[in-house]
Amino acid sequence: MRAYHVPPAGDMIKLDAMENPYAWPEALKQAWHEKLDAIAINRYPDPAALQLKDRLRELMAIPDDISIMLGNGSDELIQILAVALAQPGRHYLAPEPGFVMYRRITETLNVGYCGVPLTQPDFALDRAAMLAAIARYQPALIFLAWPNNPTGNLFDKGAVLDVIKHAPGLVVIDEAYHAFSGQSLMLHIGEFENLLVMRTFSKSGLAGIRLGYLLGQASVLEELEKIRLPYNINSLTQATAAFILGHAHVLEEQYRRIRAGRESLFAGLSHMQGIQVWPSAANFILFRTRTGTADEIFTGLKQRGILIKNLHGSHPLLENCLRVTIGTEEENQSFLEALKQLL
Ligand code: PMP
Repeated sequence: MRAYHVPPAGDMIKLDAMENPYAWPEALKQAWHEKLDAIAINRYPDPAALQLKDRLRELMAIPDDISIMLGNGSDELIQILAVALAQPGRHYLAPEPGFVMYRRITETLNVGYCGVPLTQPDFALDRAAMLAAIARYQPALIFLAWPNNPTGNLFDKGAVLDVIKHAPGLVVIDEAYHAFSGQSLMLHIGEFENLLVMRTFSKSGLAGIRLGYLLGQASVLEELEKIRLPYNINSLTQATAAFILGHAHVLEEQYRRIRAGRESLFAGLSHMQGIQVWPSAANFILFRTRTGTADEIFTGLKQRGILIKNLHGSHPLLENCLRVTIGTEEENQSFLEALKQLL
């Protein structure tokens, strides 16, 4: 293996990592600083993060019969799940192309990994192939990002529910982009003991605090809690997340602007000759260049001060594909203009 590489962004326009580009209003920042000032950082954080969980339950309308587990980013939750279920001879499964950490984390354990290709050209979930792979590998764990990264689409809900019904083990519905899709399977948790829903604060404007949460039935989360390290959510993160949940309207307005940006960026890309673009329910857009290679586009944009993600070479279905995160209106415009020049 190689360590996960994050390219340095310097002072480039950063459209590579699905961050929210908007800052908080000054008055809100001041109120937040006062909260942080009151924290006793000589003490360990609340190991159960009770106040934060209460806030989360209230603001995300999480029903009382659903339990919550917190992670240092959803990456840590993926790792906890993968460690909890690891046994030689077992398999984990996910559709591909998908979020790379599922495979990466599995590969650090003595567990097999089955990637089931999405269909072409729409990157839909291949229901028959998924059910066949489930029957063959009996996966202890299935990851399904909904919407999917890097393709941006929401798989057909009926097909996703079929996967959950046929899975012999746990199914994690990764709703990292929930704020931009407006869709969730959270209310199905009561129906399926093997269903877990995972979300993150990273795409909501808080990538720096590292906070993810997992929702599921108590019987399952109680087992996973045995693996979680006691102080995985630090005091500054707990206080910051609880604070911003009390001002959720600020984030909602930012999501609205990002969704509007997504529509105009999609329209801009659709009108460009030599570009194939896929509709997105997330805060990024997948596109393919037919004029020149993805490497040329990526390098050309970088030379013009814009960093996006080059996906060419990461999966056979992503030939000459790139992924751009929705930025501010000006950033989106700069990206479109630079791309047009390059093409
Ligand atoms: N799941 C998906 C589908 C993602 O795209 C990402 C981030 N790229 C994550 C999880 C990880 O998020 P976090 O920052 O919470 O670790």
